[in-house]
Order: sequence, then structure tokens, then C-alpha cells
Amino acid sequence: MSPFENQKHDSSSGALMADLVAANRILLRQGVLDAFGHVSVRSAPGASTFLLSRNLAPGSVTRSDLLLHDLDGAVLDDDRPPYLERFIHSEIYRRRPHVMSVVHSHSPAVIPFSVVEAPFRPVIHMAGFLDVERTPVFEISDFAGDSSDLLVTNRQLGSHLADVLGEGRVALMRGHGSIVVGSSLPEAVYRAVYTEVNARALFEASILGVPRLLSIGEAESADQSVGGQARRAWDVWRAQVSEGGTE
Ligand SMILES: [Zn+2]
Repeated sequence: MSPFENQKHDSSSGALMADLVAANRILLRQGVLDAFGHVSVRSAPGASTFLLSRNLAPGSVTRSDLLLHDLDGAVLDDDRPPYLERFIHSEIYRRRPHVMSVVHSHSPAVIPFSVVEAPFRPVIHMAGFLDVERTPVFEISDFAGDSSDLLVTNRQLGSHLADVLGEGRVALMRGHGSIVVGSSLPEAVYRAVYTEVNARALFEASILGVPRLLSIGEAESADQSVGGQARRAWDVWRAQVSEGGTE
């Protein structure tokens, strides 16, 4: 069971919007997002809509920038330009009813693993949520040819990407970035941060020698025990971005 599965989902849209603004700032502060990338949250458990900022750098996002999208990636009742890659979110929400939050980022330590044969695997206890065998890689040229801009800018590409993610928590996008999902906004944020941390640890360990990876049992146990403490990370990060009236 996911560490956040028992979390009471906050159906208050105001609180959810405040948390989504905070998530943008947390992920920026943690080096997962920069001027690009985005984080979304499903409106409520089972809802066929989700909140995602308009086309804006994550550090600039405020509540008034959040747009309601449907599962076709269409924006409801707003003319402001959405993100080009909103279909990443809409197709995952369509495919995975229990996913409550999606992070798409270009976090830098992860990207090298998307362009080499070496698999991206968990090497630290904080990343037991990662697939022990291999994190799948979305090869966009399989679907968009060899002259695309690598962006997931329509439903078809979003659907293929959701296929590659399958029932997993993380998928890499070759030469581009990654997607991370969670059963809550704090869980998706936590996983996105520690996906990047794991990538750095795995790379650095590979320079020193042959890394010993987590076993399947260790990954499962660590995900339960560390994940049970993971809410603490959200609370700390949330407080950091609330200071100074950033919402
Ligand atoms: Zn992107």
C-alpha cells in the first residue's frame, strides 16, 4: 500500500490550489523543475478534471494561474494558453484512476539515464518506489518519427507515453526528462525529488565502482518504512515556500 494511500484527500479546492502552487515552488527549490516542467493534481478522487498552471514558469505560478483541464487535455472556461505538454497529464489521469498527481520535469541528473543502455534503478533507501528491474524509457521516435521536437504535444503521444509508464511510478523520456506519479500531491512531489537524488547517487556510485542496487525486498520494505515518514518532507518543504508570502 502506498504510504500516502490513507491520506485524507482535501476536496477543498482552495486548499488544493494552495498546495499546487506550493508544489511548483517546492519542486523549483529542490532542483526538479526550472523554467520548464509542470506539476498537476486531480481535482478530487475519481474526478475527470485536473488542475495545472497556464503556460508559465513554475516559479511564477500563483493560484490565479491554475486552469481546470479535462481528460482530453482541453481547458475549461479559460482562454489563456495552456502548457503544450498538458497531454502528458491528461492521458495518465485517463489511464490511471488512482493517480492523483503527475510531475513532468527535465530534472538534470535523471536525463542521462534516458539516453544510455544502463538502466535507471534504485540505489538508495529513499527511492524504493522505483522499479528495481528498470525504469521504462519512452522512445518518442517510435511514434513521432526522427524529426520531432521530442515534446508530447497531442493526445496520441500522451497515450503512448502512458502505455510506457503502465502501472509504474516513474518513466523516463529519452533526451527530454521524466514523469512521476503519486496517489497524492505530496507523494508525487516526494517521488520526483528522490528520483533526482537517486539519479545523482547512482551516477556517483558508478564512478566509484559497481553499485550494489536495492533488492526487490529492500525496495518494497524501504518504500513502506521511509514512505511512512515522507509526509515530514512535504511539511518541511511546504513551510519553506510559504515563508515570505509566496502564495
Ligand atoms: Zn518537457
